[in-house]
Amino acid sequence: MTDTRYQYIDGEWIEGDSDDEMTVRNPAVPDDPLATFPRADREQTRNAVDVATEASEAWEETTPDERDSLLYDIADLIDDNVDELAQTLTKEEGKALSSSRGEVSRAAEIFRFFASYARTATGETIPSSDPDTFTYTIREPLGTVALVTPWNFPIATPSWKLATALVTGNTVVFKPSSQTPMIAKQLVELLERAGVPDGVVNLVVGSGSTVGDELTTNDGIDGISFTGSTGVGRQIAQAAADRGIPIQTEMGGKNPQVVLPDADIEDAADAAIGGAFGLTGQACTATSRLIVHEDVIDELTDAVVERAESLSVGPGMDDPDMGPAVSEEQDETNFDYIDIAKEAGATLLTGGTRPDGLESGYYIEPTVFTDVTSDMRIAQEEVFGPVLSIMEASDFDEAIEIANDVEFGLSSSVFTADMASARRFANAIEAGVVKVNGATTGSQIQMPFGGMKASSSETQKEMGQTAYEFYTHEKAVYRTDP
Ligand code: NDP
Repeated sequence: MTDTRYQYIDGEWIEGDSDDEMTVRNPAVPDDPLATFPRADREQTRNAVDVATEASEAWEETTPDERDSLLYDIADLIDDNVDELAQTLTKEEGKALSSSRGEVSRAAEIFRFFASYARTATGETIPSSDPDTFTYTIREPLGTVALVTPWNFPIATPSWKLATALVTGNTVVFKPSSQTPMIAKQLVELLERAGVPDGVVNLVVGSGSTVGDELTTNDGIDGISFTGSTGVGRQIAQAAADRGIPIQTEMGGKNPQVVLPDADIEDAADAAIGGAFGLTGQACTATSRLIVHEDVIDELTDAVVERAESLSVGPGMDDPDMGPAVSEEQDETNFDYIDIAKEAGATLLTGGTRPDGLESGYYIEPTVFTDVTSDMRIAQEEVFGPVLSIMEASDFDEAIEIANDVEFGLSSSVFTADMASARRFANAIEAGVVKVNGATTGSQIQMPFGGMKASSSETQKEMGQTAYEFYTHEKAVYRTDP
């Protein structure tokens, strides 16, 4: 019989208390549900917060060695189960199997990277103006944190939040996306097997409007780390501000790749294809605007269209270049934006329809528009699907103006052979991630990650050497010896 216990509270796997059921669907075969189980309700979420709060003191007192070795054990267990985890991820989210394997391996790498924080994420000693006073800072955990995550990196995103929260001594209530609860359950099962004490990590699976809202407003929560859409993120940030607790929100993007006339056009085309259509365009850092100097726009457009038309589309389990969209809702959004772009006067160069023979899943061909201008919705709004807009610029300054003329500021890229142009771009672009001769997608764990403008609360960044800052209070200590 299928296991319907998706809630993990105080070390016990239990069923959701709500009358409402959640059905998980494979976006490649939506008529064949993968799982159905009861959602958690508000009361159960409150209970999870209480349990996590009670577990705080003992967890905070664990030694760096204990936390470090626990995170390494989690990483090893993830590596040992990469095949099973990747298959769940692909069935539930739709991405190509090799991408799922890559994401699972990255989750293991993330736990290993953050394990080292146990011994290093601490305060500083600072030169004192008074020779009798020793001045230093200490870092302490926030207490109990809520981690609210989206579906598109359903193991990597929770892993970087969980690893950082745990290693800095916080207890956790984790609310995954309703699209991807199965991989969340498997991840938490591995945390349990690795020996995370009861109550330290709690998984609550339910809707954003009940479980998510309760976590956002519950007095037992001392900090919230959220990744998801800008609309929801801003709502949560407002609620957190009202309660005066730390909030970290990483949200949507409308990421530009600028191509200057001296660029390597083949490399620029490869990057645009990978950035726009990798993961079916369902990456917050996906390339959605290709802003090209007029001298090379024809050559680059031909190269991009040729490559887009050669991509394979199909079920993630067959490991194509592009799997389906995650859900019926996202599928509708993709096709709505095709219509919106056409109606605004953009020219469809390729794609825009469901591929032949793939009528039953949420598939769409890689889609490229040209003649796109900044006043069009397709140039302003996040589609979160495989739709690339080509925009023309007459010089560097106009390219930057177009690139910055959106509310978002997550990732960006410039292709050029001239490092002075690259430097100017890095300085002028309004984005938290800047790539030179690389795709807007992809990041390294040891580099800080996060956006600007409507893409981020711009509190502390995730990942990188200082990701622990969000999860800790900093105290400045002045110790004058008697
Ligand atoms: P959503 O904002 O819809 O959901 C994100 C999470 O928030 C889910 O767990 C969701 O639960 C929950 N949620 C929804 N409503 C509320 C609420 N009122 N209170 C509290 N929690 C709530 O985003 P998606 O899951 O659709 O993810 C796609 C979005 O995420 C895109 O905009 C993408 O750009 C962004 N993203 C940003 C990244 C970044 O680092 N900047 C990285 C990856 C994605 P439920 O699923 O139950 O609705």
